[in-house]
Amino acid sequence: MKLEKRSSFGWPAPAAGRAPCRNGLVVHYDGSNLGLARKAHSACRAYWKATRKFHMGPARGWLDIGYSFGVCPHGIVMEGRGWQRQQAAQPGGNTTWTSVTFMTGDAEKPTDAQVNAFRELRAWLRGKGLAAAISYHSRFISTSCPGKILREWVTSGRLAGAPTNTDWQEAIVKKLPTLGKGDHGEHVQSVQALLVARSHPEVKMTGTFDAATEKAVKAVQKWGDVDDDGIVGPKTWPVLLRVH
Ligand SMILES: [Zn+2]
Ligand SMILES: [Zn+2]
Repeated sequence: MKLEKRSSFGWPAPAAGRAPCRNGLVVHYDGSNLGLARKAHSACRAYWKATRKFHMGPARGWLDIGYSFGVCPHGIVMEGRGWQRQQAAQPGGNTTWTSVTFMTGDAEKPTDAQVNAFRELRAWLRGKGLAAAISYHSRFISTSCPGKILREWVTSGRLAGAPTNTDWQEAIVKKLPTLGKGDHGEHVQSVQALLVARSHPEVKMTGTFDAATEKAVKAVQKWGDVDDDGIVGPKTWPVLLRVH
């Protein structure tokens, strides 16, 4: 996942209070056809900054940008208030749900890269405890948001799939062996290092694929929505390598 943190926009730590926001994702859109898919990514960054300014200005008077995250047509996730911060995006769900806005308008179909960025964001947050549900703004209050296309895509389940692997992940994965219980070697040690980095301190970097390693692999597979067979192969390596 390509994530641009709020610090990359020169913004301070969010002023909004902490909140659980675990119920699932709430989809939003901009409302105007921004044409960002045809522009350079710098236009998305300028848009994100302008959105925060608008939300904090006299029209809204909020203490920060209203959303938790945004996804741009170039497939990049941009941090708003971030994970587990109270939002101003959907009254009725600002402390219980997590908002994601698509930087598109009514007549703009989100790009494949944008949908993939949404899925990557969702997979990442699922690993942090977010529930599976996907909702949209007009389920909370009467509003045109998130427009006809995105409403249909939420309802039909089109946004819910697993993210596709990026090119660099595929290139790496082709070179990696399939590993399971009883295997030894430095690749096993790499698996163990990745597991430790994913908050599985019970895994020891012994270079032997033991029961503790297998158990942790299964846990990571579960949140990554791949078969939890405890074997590290072409489907599981990308889950282990997913960056954030
Ligand atoms: Zn909205
Ligand atoms: Zn962009």
